[in-house]
Amino acid sequence: MNSTKYDIVIIGAGPGGLAAGIKAKEAGKSYVIIEKGKKVFQGIIDSYPKGKSVYPTIPKGHEAPFPIKSLEPPKEKVAVEEYVEQIEAVVQSENLNIIYEEDFKDIEEESEGYIVKTQKSQYGAKNIILAFGSNIPNDLGLYGEAKTVARKLENVEDYVWLPTLVLGGGNAAADIVAALSKAKREAASYMPVYWAHRKETFRINKDTARDLGEELLLGGHVKILQEAIPKIGEVDSDGIDRLYIHQSPGINQKSDVFVYQGMSFPMKNVIACIGTQGPTGVFKNLDLKVIDREGFTSSDDQIILLDKNLQTSKDGIYAIGGSISPTIMELQGDGSSTENKHPNLIYTAIKDALIAIDGILSK
Ligand SMILES: Cc1cc2nc3c(=O)[nH]c(=O)nc-3n(C[C@H](O)[C@H](O)[C@H](O)COP(=O)(O)OP(=O)(O)OC[C@H]3O[C@@H](n4cnc5c(N)ncnc54)[C@H](O)[C@@H]3O)c2cc1C
Repeated sequence: MNSTKYDIVIIGAGPGGLAAGIKAKEAGKSYVIIEKGKKVFQGIIDSYPKGKSVYPTIPKGHEAPFPIKSLEPPKEKVAVEEYVEQIEAVVQSENLNIIYEEDFKDIEEESEGYIVKTQKSQYGAKNIILAFGSNIPNDLGLYGEAKTVARKLENVEDYVWLPTLVLGGGNAAADIVAALSKAKREAASYMPVYWAHRKETFRINKDTARDLGEELLLGGHVKILQEAIPKIGEVDSDGIDRLYIHQSPGINQKSDVFVYQGMSFPMKNVIACIGTQGPTGVFKNLDLKVIDREGFTSSDDQIILLDKNLQTSKDGIYAIGGSISPTIMELQGDGSSTENKHPNLIYTAIKDALIAIDGILSK
């Protein structure tokens, strides 16, 4: 464990996290930004279509100027790639303390503050700013998956000579299957791409289906596994984390024993494209108070309770930006709470960071 106890540990290097880092540095506070991706603004890089224009939108009821000028998208429309270049230059000139490829997992309380745990390290923190945005990948919920199962296709070359399992029944999974199959076919690899979905039907759009169909006609080696359910993560006798998927459960009437047809893959050969969820589940796992929206009962309609400084129900833990959009429950002075709109915009994430840092500085 890193023995430093930071004044502020910031989770996520998107607009909110970066703004918090810039302000923490300006205030002379010790801080670190933890980012699960390889680059600053990884969330934006992953979610914007290539070449998309970025707008410096200011929500109704707020006024220019942008809270931190250097993070403002240019007034003349620019493509997301150009905006990310602008931000990379800011990170360099400000010499911000960002640690990449650190996937935040949990927070533990200790006598004077917290320990922030990632998949490979731990950071002591007096305050924490949760700036991880709104797209939290779904978990398979199996032992060993977190550190080994990929969520997207980073480098196709890594899989060419391996039997590869792609999980998921949508367009993202289909695109990966087609890309892997093409790379294997062109390299004359005999290793198939297994494509598994827990349902019988795969739901992909016409364009994706056409690309995949073309790949199959060209001789792609894809094996489709319908109703295939990831069941268990285990370490085998060689110490390799493996994922077992089971198909076609049938019951042996006499003994009540379920008989499955199953397959097992090293987890490093698995890419799981099983969608994303909102951050409510993460807030609940961290034991932060969430409230049912009036008139709603499903857990999808619970929102985080925050005070006016965006502090959660735990002292010193703040939540900002996309992670708390599109609405928040704001705690009032008299103990009641009001639901307020919270638009998911670059402006809002930056503004939130300033509010949270002010809250920390005013303690
Ligand atoms: C397609 C699209 C177009 C948009 N266009 C505009 C626009 O033109 N103008 C505008 O103002 N807004 C736009 N938005 C919204 C804007 O991008 C968001 O409001 C903004 O990115 C939110 O910033 P954030 O810092 O809260 O979250 P994010 O930008 O999502 O950043 C969160 C960061 O945290 C990281 N992270 C997540 N989980 C972890 C973890 N477990 N451990 C460590 N790091 C983690 C992510 O990798 C990411 O880098 C658009 C959004 C989309 C999807």
